Amino acid sequence: MRFSTEDGIVKAVDGLSFDVERGKTLGIVGESGSGKSVTNLTVLGLHNPKTSTVEGEILLEGRDLVTASEKEMAKLRGNKVAMIFQDPLTALSPYYTVGRQIAEPYMKHTGASKKEARQRAIEMLTKVGIPQPQTRVDDYPHQFSGGMRQRAMIAMALVCDPDLLIADEPTTALDVTVQAQILDLLKDLQQEFGSAIIFITHDLGVISDMADDLLVMYSGRAVERGSVREVLREPKHPYTWGLLSSMPRLGGDTEQALNPIPGSPPSLLNPPSGCPFHPRCAFTDQVSGDRCATERPALGEGRAAACHLTAEQKQTIFFDTIQPR
Ligand code: SF4
Ligand code: MG
Repeated sequence: MRFSTEDGIVKAVDGLSFDVERGKTLGIVGESGSGKSVTNLTVLGLHNPKTSTVEGEILLEGRDLVTASEKEMAKLRGNKVAMIFQDPLTALSPYYTVGRQIAEPYMKHTGASKKEARQRAIEMLTKVGIPQPQTRVDDYPHQFSGGMRQRAMIAMALVCDPDLLIADEPTTALDVTVQAQILDLLKDLQQEFGSAIIFITHDLGVISDMADDLLVMYSGRAVERGSVREVLREPKHPYTWGLLSSMPRLGGDTEQALNPIPGSPPSLLNPPSGCPFHPRCAFTDQVSGDRCATERPALGEGRAAACHLTAEQKQTIFFDTIQPR
């Protein structure tokens, strides 16, 4: 997928493919600027077709979202595919009651009457744990706390029982206690609704709790893929090692200094040659010649990491130097 900007062509998400099944959660993790959010906008058809072109296909139940018309996409949005964001105020309008905003997509997609939709909104507010939903349904978003707005946005996203829910850093702005409650709520609702979830975050801790499968993104491309268990237990890409070592240890000393990955993510406009991670990678000298700088490593099928290190090197380096056992 490419975006045209005034500065040139930005390759945002290059050759990325993923699939996620109903009832399962795919975690997408990476630093900001790694192309995570662009990816989910594509799935929703919210990218601007005038400035970006999408290569490849994004299949939802066999239907290609890339070639779907704007009309088809409008039918899918909020119905088959829904989204929750970090900031509920981007999804909720300050001018309408919470109840109306939950009821509206329901009427639009199911043809329900106003009365039925209001009943459905109350039901949804109950499901997401809003107290006194019968009266709260007539409140405006500003009358809700931050955590309650997040719950209301989830209610709005799920009201039509979507097949796919995209959650983009949905708890980043919340304090730790509320964050845990919202994550629990999402897990419960996923059980009930059976939606597939794409969960986008920079927080590996959150992902270990939420996702079944994991895609690690760097510089607009997937660099590692596997089940969450596999990737967290034995990560195979130096960038994933960096993410892990910069994460506070669970139950560890909270004062513990973190080891951020040196350097910053590359410009998507002008990605480095070869392996996009090579300017920041500490292991390029373990690969023969200057392959890291010249040859782009491919991401294989299934459990895979896009890195020139041999399978044995990946294992030895991780267990000897990153996380000695
Ligand atoms: Fe590092 Fe080279 Fe592997 Fe890229 S291919 S992650 S630069 S060792
Ligand atoms: Mg983002």
